[in-house]
Amino acid sequence: GNSDTSYYGLPGNLPFANETLAINRHANATFVILARNSDLQGTVRSVREIEDRFNRKYRYPYVFLNEEPFTDEFKKRISVLSSAKMEFGLIPKEHWFQPDWIDEKKATAGREKMVADKIIYGGSVSYRNMCRFNSGFFFRHPLMEKYRWYWRIEPDVHFHCDIDYDPFLYMEQNKKIYSFTITMYEYEATIPTLWKTVMDFAKKHPEYIAKDNALGFMSSNNGDTYNLCHFWSNFEIADMEFWRGPAYTAFFDYLDKQGGFYYERWGDAPVHSIAAALFASKDQIHFFDDIGYEHNPYIHCTKDKAKWEKGKCSCDPARSFDYDGYSCFSKWETFMGKR
Ligand code: GDP
Ligand code: MN
Repeated sequence: GNSDTSYYGLPGNLPFANETLAINRHANATFVILARNSDLQGTVRSVREIEDRFNRKYRYPYVFLNEEPFTDEFKKRISVLSSAKMEFGLIPKEHWFQPDWIDEKKATAGREKMVADKIIYGGSVSYRNMCRFNSGFFFRHPLMEKYRWYWRIEPDVHFHCDIDYDPFLYMEQNKKIYSFTITMYEYEATIPTLWKTVMDFAKKHPEYIAKDNALGFMSSNNGDTYNLCHFWSNFEIADMEFWRGPAYTAFFDYLDKQGGFYYERWGDAPVHSIAAALFASKDQIHFFDDIGYEHNPYIHCTKDKAKWEKGKCSCDPARSFDYDGYSCFSKWETFMGKR
């Protein structure tokens, strides 16, 4: 049920006189933004940009999540940016904080080692809470339960091109479950035992491994070793039914019980990426070339001249991360048979 035009307001509310709202059909979708109150200004900038480049015509709702209550100031400054529905949610404690059964001595030792090794966020417990939440819990938040599709946005990201079609509907109509704009190598020191844990799970649960999966993108020896390639999850448009389904539920529970979110520093990016690569077919993973996206320090900016012009892109294709030495994109193209 998504043809309720009243939701989009009357024609008199059109943001620009000559623009038509895409009111025909919408996906059951939302933006989701995890943020702290201190992230307010960066969140304003991100919302302002996605509104300008896409959502002023589509008016998808927003869900903002935080483990502390959002301040009235935060809600006021954000709410003014769009006429789309916005909800501000508190994350339940058990979805955020380090569980009691984690061995705190072992966790402390893991953090100290990473600080000594100068690993980014190596000493941070809150970063680990965030990674675990994004891995296993955001899609179970009561405000998220009513939606199937989400588009993850972070504070201080940039959308560089007009998006003149509905990426959610694109995903739905083309049977995609996960999408990305940037793919790169993970720091091995943050996930020393993740791949072994993944392979243990895969051996225990062959029933979850998809036909035509994308394991070959991440491993050149059928799973013996991981090449550290993953999709950068600060941008995601994806299907929460996949995360809520039996394969990912069992997978997340298995990983969580190993404690690597705290003993190491497992990121939601490799966790999501590996799951998409194993439990979905490779054709269900989509690369959004036409979405110009920047999260410091990297940009994806299409090198397709027609798309770049049509999108009125503000990014420089020469700066696109795609074929950077640290990018996995050429591996992806080779794997998908496109080069
Ligand atoms: P990075 O992209 O890996 O450098 O990590 P970020 O600092 O950008 O954090 C990722 C996302 O989680 C962003 O949307 C942050 O606003 C959010 N985030 C990180 N830590 C916290 C936290 O402690 N509380 C809340 N509420 N959000 C957080
Ligand atoms: Mn970030």
